[in-house]
Amino acid sequence: MDCIFCKIIEGSIPSKKVFENDRVLAFQDIQPAAPVHILIIPKKHIPTMNDIGSEDLELVGELFAVARQIAKEQGIDEAGYRLINNVNSDGGQVVYHLHIHLLGGNKLGPLLA
Ligand code: C5P
Repeated sequence: MDCIFCKIIEGSIPSKKVFENDRVLAFQDIQPAAPVHILIIPKKHIPTMNDIGSEDLELVGELFAVARQIAKEQGIDEAGYRLINNVNSDGGQVVYHLHIHLLGGNKLGPLLA
């Protein structure tokens, strides 16, 4: 499968892992947009938010639980952080494997600046 995030999951493309279990992987974004910029992804290949099935809802919940845990570990939970999911072209999605951006570590600007 020609998916860069599937290759990161397999290990054929390197990444700086922050968290991993059987279902979820989190790693540092290679082009950080904030002091903390981590991507949380399911190991299951789901291209976009639009492709989440009813069978995936527990997995999606786990993505958010992992994001919250990482924010705490990174020490940004109290100050605050932002979770972003870009969907398709107008949403700015570049990699078509579901991912949540976890951004924080300084005061983030307005979302649509
Ligand atoms: O939401 P979107 O699809 O635009 O974001 C993809 C993200 O994946 C980008 O922030 C990009 O820097 C990141 N990326 C990465 N490692 C790669 C390829 C892309 O962290 N090998």
